[in-house]
Amino acid sequence: MPLPPFPFDNSYARLPESFHQPAKPAQAPDPELIRFNSPLAEELGIEVNESDEHELASVFSGNSLPENAEPIALAYAGHQFGNFVPQLGDGRAILIGEVIDQCQKRRDIQLKGAGRTGFSRGGDGRAPIGPVIREYIVSEAMHALGIPTTRALAAVTTGSTVMREGPEPGAILTRVAASHIRVGTFEYFAYRQDTEAIRTLADYAIARHYPSVMFEDQPYQSLLRAVAEQQAELIADWMSVGFIHGVMNTDNMAISGETVDYGPCAFMDHYHADTVFSSIDARGRYAYANQAEIGYWNLARFAESLLPLFDGSKDEAIETAKTLLGAYREHYNAAWRQRFGRKIGVSNLTPENESVVHDLLALMQRNGSDFTETFREMTRITQMDSPQKAAASLFGNTDDAQQWSSCWIGMLDSPDVMWEANPAVIPRNHQVEAAISAAQQGDLRRFHSLMAALKAPFSADADNSDYRSPPAPQERVPRTFCGT
Ligand code: AMP
Ligand code: MG
Repeated sequence: MPLPPFPFDNSYARLPESFHQPAKPAQAPDPELIRFNSPLAEELGIEVNESDEHELASVFSGNSLPENAEPIALAYAGHQFGNFVPQLGDGRAILIGEVIDQCQKRRDIQLKGAGRTGFSRGGDGRAPIGPVIREYIVSEAMHALGIPTTRALAAVTTGSTVMREGPEPGAILTRVAASHIRVGTFEYFAYRQDTEAIRTLADYAIARHYPSVMFEDQPYQSLLRAVAEQQAELIADWMSVGFIHGVMNTDNMAISGETVDYGPCAFMDHYHADTVFSSIDARGRYAYANQAEIGYWNLARFAESLLPLFDGSKDEAIETAKTLLGAYREHYNAAWRQRFGRKIGVSNLTPENESVVHDLLALMQRNGSDFTETFREMTRITQMDSPQKAAASLFGNTDDAQQWSSCWIGMLDSPDVMWEANPAVIPRNHQVEAAISAAQQGDLRRFHSLMAALKAPFSADADNSDYRSPPAPQERVPRTFCGT
């Protein structure tokens, strides 16, 4: 039976040739469906016969591309751990097309792990099942937490073996994104001093993501401001749930403001500001507490790439960029206060009184308290008869704890919002790893049950979930691997 067509409209493929290359998904010898996200498919207006797993596996392995698919690999560069690489590009991902979703938003559909492209360099263009499962779990959990993110539409195994530390089943994730334009895409053309391409890309990004700036006096400056604001909001979101991206290279920062490129990412269990999971981040460049400043650093690279489009002399353009970037820190701090204010039920957290959160985090760090559980427990405590006592006892009733607790209870004025700001369930790293290990052995039950548990993280049901508990010390998984 022929596949009903996807409602493709491929705008990126219509951009100049220097932006992309044709790419063809490799044939998967024996594709099998791992999971399909039907609510998302519906949102995208994609009609597939869901009961036909064979057909789904064939489509989302890239074996039978839907009509009007225009598979391409996108060009981009990027700073990796601070070092510039002039050419990266989609080395193991193929954009098959764009659709306009039910909210009239344009969305990319990309196969990640579908084989080599012109940008693969020495890589095999493939993905082992581990990273595919991790991205599926964490990106969908992120969405359920209300945080902007790329989504997972489908995952399949290919039937071929991928060699990493050892042989692993090969897999493909179908990723859906507002777009795949990265800071590194701008850097690609800036490095080549191709000002016309920078302008074309900026115009495209404005039309796609920030249409309101199109009519402003200085649209390219406004683009920088808008992207910086989105990043400030996004990183504040991450901080509020203890998420550590792990590889905040400029090629992994999306202009759309979505979380993108889930590699060695993880959610923190016990709170420590310096937490790092990634095995390749030996110096902690991308540690929890560094994320906002890395955001700034990446935005500075974005600003540099846009400079040729700014009015005035080079010096004037640099001054303008500095001013615009300066606003990022203020915006981030305000976004952080807004998130953490909600987490502690204080409606007006200000620079003057935000120390109540810093004191709380210091107590958590000293006590090795679980980040997620502590905030959820504080939420419960607000309903108790003597909340002040209960809060102090979270941290052993020390003088510090009592002082903090009386300060917090004195400020508490909106306890109800805490239920919506403090999830009970997050994708804890030991659970993600357990789901991955089982999947590597062909058992998907843990993966599916974890996915079910992550669907409604703020609900009362989530408080009874088996997946709520922090790991016992011997269960902790403090390291993650890129597994690329
Ligand atoms: P990442 O670390 O996922 O941000 O990827 C950095 C760059 O390496 C991107 O250009 C990827 O396309 C490329 N890359 C990562 N893994 C592979 C692979 N297995 N084969 C080809 N290219 C890859
Ligand atoms: Mg990447």
